[in-house]
Amino acid sequence: TTAQIGVTGLAVMGRNLARNFARNGYTVALHNRTAARTRELVDRFGDEGDFVPTETAKEFVAALERPRRLVVMVKAGDPTDAVIKEFAPLLEPGDMIIDGGNAHFADTRRREKQLREQGIHFVGAGISGGEEGALNGPSIMPGGSEESYASLGPMLAKISAKAKDGAPCVTHVGPDGAGHFVKMTHNGIEYADMQLIGEAYQLLRDVAGYSAAQIADVFRTWNTGRLDSYLIEITAEVLSHVDEATGKPFVDVVLDQAEQKGTGRWTVQIALDLGVPVSGIAEAVFARSVSGHTALREASRHLAGPTARKLGEEEAAAFADQVEQALYASKIVSYTQGFHEMAAGSAEYDWNIDLGKVAAIWRGGCIIRAAFLDRITRAYEAQPQLPSLLSDKSFAEEIAAAQDDWRDVIATAARQGVPTPAFAATLAYYDSLRAERLPAALTQGQRDYFGAHTYRRTDRDGVFHTLWGGDKTEVDS
Ligand code: NDP
Repeated sequence: TTAQIGVTGLAVMGRNLARNFARNGYTVALHNRTAARTRELVDRFGDEGDFVPTETAKEFVAALERPRRLVVMVKAGDPTDAVIKEFAPLLEPGDMIIDGGNAHFADTRRREKQLREQGIHFVGAGISGGEEGALNGPSIMPGGSEESYASLGPMLAKISAKAKDGAPCVTHVGPDGAGHFVKMTHNGIEYADMQLIGEAYQLLRDVAGYSAAQIADVFRTWNTGRLDSYLIEITAEVLSHVDEATGKPFVDVVLDQAEQKGTGRWTVQIALDLGVPVSGIAEAVFARSVSGHTALREASRHLAGPTARKLGEEEAAAFADQVEQALYASKIVSYTQGFHEMAAGSAEYDWNIDLGKVAAIWRGGCIIRAAFLDRITRAYEAQPQLPSLLSDKSFAEEIAAAQDDWRDVIATAARQGVPTPAFAATLAYYDSLRAERLPAALTQGQRDYFGAHTYRRTDRDGVFHTLWGGDKTEVDS
């Protein structure tokens, strides 16, 4: 037998991806460093389709039709390089290695360049949707050459999630590292979405005085409106879950220390390198970090806070509506920031990413899938060179309608001492963009004062310096 595709790395993701290919009628060659995993897959799921289990790299490569398509689903980082080192010498020009792991896009660029010299197509493909998505249809963000996509595209389209209109959630994102960059940003936006939801939850709990079960109902209602999304849906599920051992809301027995694997942090690091303000995403990453500093939090418990004011029932319901407005407005801003980062990455690395298409392939399969993404696609279709999502008229109008509540909620949070870093950061970003004048003028003055860093003027061209230590005359610089 010859297999149309092979998967090496058969942990949860690789196994489910292999099953997904097989269930879609492809013959799938299987390989894993530890052969037991390969055997287990065939034992448990062998009847789902045509699998060709192999034990050695040589056997694996030999099982594949040419040009070969090898999907690598191993632990990101050194293991990916180890696998490439093992397989590349066995491949021929025209063959494709698809890295479906969560690689850093810079690693993908390096690997792509190195393999291109050997005539091998290296496709860094972001895959989102977790275990379940890998099996039933993920959102797939492949980078790499046009040529490789011509060969892979139809297969990926088959196994990918389908949006509500039936469109497969996959597109050729762009050359080399573009796919992994977009996946990274997807995860950064996911961090922000989750943090904003968390802040909304905390406000409903601490200010509105709602129980976890009541808040689950609020989220269920929100999920029927413009916030309709996978994350809101599962939030309601998590909040309504009751811990069996204690009878308490599940959310009350879970340790409040969020963990992270790195893609959110990368999104912020790369944004800093590219000079893109992603304050909402950054606050989301920092919020996880704060939550994990147990000693610091323990030592800070005595710090003074305001006296909280409990709301009456009617007030609480009105407040919950305001929180929905705030959540929606902050969400628009954090997507604006994430899409700005992709635009900047695309410009920096000549990827020519179609941002509307990216939004379209996130409509299904991935963690941030949401009705909202359709709107982003339409905004970019109407204006492909949209400088910012906030430049889109309909988003601007929605924020205009939400802003009074948005501001109220953040003011209330500050007054009541509920931390809302992502809500606040996204509002500050919005107000910064709106501002006629920013204090940056003063910053420039300070920089010129202490470091002769010079400044430009509003009223004429040129670069100037004031002789601060002398008679304060202005000189051309
Ligand atoms: P893991 O990240 O836990 O990786 C385990 C797999 O990597 C095993 O098959 C293991 O082989 C193999 N492996 C580790 N080191 C080496 C090595 N040096 N040489 C060869 N193989 C090695 O598996 P997951 O399925 O969770 O994830 C796979 C990839 O998908 C990762 O890059 C992850 O970031 C990404 N991803 C994961 C998602 C998820 O929800 N889990 C979602 C989206 C992407 P062995 O069995 O021999 O130990």
